[in-house]
Amino acid sequence: MQIMIIIGIFLGLILIAFSLRFTWWWTPLYNGLIVFMYHHIKPACENAEGEDLAFTITPEIFEKQVKYLLSKKYTFIGLEDLTSGKKIKNPVMITFDDGYIDNYNYVFPILKKYGIKAVIFLIATEIGNPGFFTWQQALEMQKSGLVSFGSHGLTHKNIRRMAPSLAAKELKESKIILEEKLEHTVTAFCYPFGAGGTDKRVRKLVAEAGYLFDFSTRRGLNPWPLKAGRTIYRAFPRGGESKLDFILQTHLGRSKL
Ligand SMILES: [Zn+2]
Repeated sequence: MQIMIIIGIFLGLILIAFSLRFTWWWTPLYNGLIVFMYHHIKPACENAEGEDLAFTITPEIFEKQVKYLLSKKYTFIGLEDLTSGKKIKNPVMITFDDGYIDNYNYVFPILKKYGIKAVIFLIATEIGNPGFFTWQQALEMQKSGLVSFGSHGLTHKNIRRMAPSLAAKELKESKIILEEKLEHTVTAFCYPFGAGGTDKRVRKLVAEAGYLFDFSTRRGLNPWPLKAGRTIYRAFPRGGESKLDFILQTHLGRSKL
């Protein structure tokens, strides 16, 4: 009898640990736009020493995630779909921060293979530098109609910690450079380090610089259609996570507390 009680307590503790880990019991069910945040997509052999692998997913795992979303009938949308007024059912947006060369090498072929859209946030002064793709490659991706670009700042600095005039410069100048080079309106800004997405003062600067949308690192889902003036939340699939983590992120916008 005593053993049964001990086993019961043990199983109960496991259940509590599991539910805390995956938070499935207190978050409302999916009903809106899910936006995923990625950084590097590359094979393990390309990882640098000491690199934080939470920011890297292998092309194989990434493709599996794409296939999962397609199997669930999600529609991959780009930035243009946020302003088109078209009714899109079951929208999902995959975003990539920083503009790494591996996005061109490994993500773009997968986008073409499945005919799906993605969004990349560019650091205006890093394009073409070692580790980042070039303007020409950016234009090639844009021309395919599968990739739309937003700004990730002029120099990837924490704009929340900057003087307002310097922050405004980061916001405005990056937009001007990207629009000139890409010959395309840039409607979205993504906060470097996620800094500013919860700060009214910073968000005001973003709007004043002419951006219609700001992408934060707050976890969760977004209403769909989007509500004006609300920062966009993103789910963050990390390297080394399980498929269950990804499924939960798809439904809840997060898989952990
Ligand atoms: Zn970044």
